[in-house]
Amino acid sequence: MRRVVVIGGGPAGIKAAHTLVKQGIHVTLLESDALLGGLASSFAFQGVRIERYYHFICKGDDHLVDTLEELGLSRLLHWKSSRMAYFVDGVLYPFLTPWELLRFEPLPLHDRLRAGLAVKLAQRMREEDIAPQRAIPWLTRLFGERAYRVIWEPLMRFKFAEHAPEISAAWIWARMVRLSRSRTNPWKEELGYVEGGSKVVLEGLGTDFERRGGRIVLQAPVEQILFESGRATGVRVGGETIPADAVISTVTTSRFRKLAQGLEGSYVERLARIPTIGIFCLFLRLKHQTTPFFWVNANDPRVPFAGMIEYTNLNPLPELGGDRILYVPQYLSADDPRFAQDDEEVLRSYSDALALVNPAFDRSWITYSHVFRDRYAQPICLTDYRTTTPEIRTPVPNLFLTDSCQLHPHDRTISGSFGLGLEAARLATEALGEARG
Ligand SMILES: Cc1cc2nc3c(=O)[nH]c(=O)nc-3n(C[C@H](O)[C@H](O)[C@H](O)COP(=O)(O)OP(=O)(O)OC[C@H]3O[C@@H](n4cnc5c(N)ncnc54)[C@H](O)[C@@H]3O)c2cc1C
Repeated sequence: MRRVVVIGGGPAGIKAAHTLVKQGIHVTLLESDALLGGLASSFAFQGVRIERYYHFICKGDDHLVDTLEELGLSRLLHWKSSRMAYFVDGVLYPFLTPWELLRFEPLPLHDRLRAGLAVKLAQRMREEDIAPQRAIPWLTRLFGERAYRVIWEPLMRFKFAEHAPEISAAWIWARMVRLSRSRTNPWKEELGYVEGGSKVVLEGLGTDFERRGGRIVLQAPVEQILFESGRATGVRVGGETIPADAVISTVTTSRFRKLAQGLEGSYVERLARIPTIGIFCLFLRLKHQTTPFFWVNANDPRVPFAGMIEYTNLNPLPELGGDRILYVPQYLSADDPRFAQDDEEVLRSYSDALALVNPAFDRSWITYSHVFRDRYAQPICLTDYRTTTPEIRTPVPNLFLTDSCQLHPHDRTISGSFGLGLEAARLATEALGEARG
């Protein structure tokens, strides 16, 4: 029987493993953590299990929608009208519809009109023309200096910290296009969520994988990918060797380089050139709603974060009995000293800032808090991504790699990772067929 080892039990790994097992291939899925899900995993607290990080779905997240259908879970996918706002210098401004944009006082009227037109203009542009341009000058040219500072600078700072000046304009463009697909009309944006959270899909795939004979090993950090005569022969984990006819790695590129020691050449050199950024996110369970908005971008010097996501304004999570979930994330470089910040200190400064956004906010509202940190949360989309992104097929004929950078200029998503997992499984199946023939 043909054997495949999949490294990493996040969305890409689970999808690849599930696709292969359906073809009668013997698959072992190795996950270093104690549970499946990767960045989309959930954690247990106060009798509930909720995602460590917020996850919403956009129209066009087809691989996720198809997976729900395959698992017979489509009834759990809900689309809901969502609202966003900007908190600028002490005032909260709704910011979604043309009417709200027209009333957006932090910008003079002609800048507001220009912003509306700029979004429409950007959506008509072609990726290949935008890709080599840097996002900040591109946005400044399109929207004007003032609108860049007020509207875009918080997003760039939030998503990329000090990497912001290096980002390709195509990343922002792709984000505008993705969100515009979720607009049912100019006045309404619909975002999706899965009742029960992403774990329903990810664990659903895991359960079906095991039912079909797949093997999941948790707390199994792969130490090395083994090679012989130019082919991958298996992996080493916990001092043991697991032999394989093909290996799929779904771990971040810097980890892959450590696992595939001995692998050299331009492919590996390209992997080393893709920077990544980490995530630092305060998770709060609250007794009351902070704002009616799903997403608030903050642009106020007194506020130490650039955005906040009140997840229960999208997914009501009835299991919380009316309590609210608020995520306050900040993307940071892996070596940023803020990763070492004391949780209590974060809670204190963020609570003070939340009281600026909603003066009624009080620390007594918080019934649970935790700061989640991941040093690898997102690859950075540089201006040369079209020529530097590594292929899923590595130079080793039976070794495959997926990484969210392969989705560039699009942002990483569960759906996108499902697509990468599907493609890796297809290529592995092809390679196994060739090796036999
Ligand atoms: C703050 C935040 C918000 C997000 N919001 C959204 C959203 O709204 N919508 C959306 O669709 N997506 C969102 N995402 C993105 C989504 O979570 C990721 O795109 C997705 O989880 C990536 O899946 P992956 O399998 O490619 O990688 P990962 O999820 O990173 O999985 C990789 C797995 O490999 C494991 N691993 C690492 N090293 C080893 C080793 N040596 N041996 C074995 N296993 C190993 C890791 O533990 C991990 O489980 C968000 C992510 C973050 C961080």
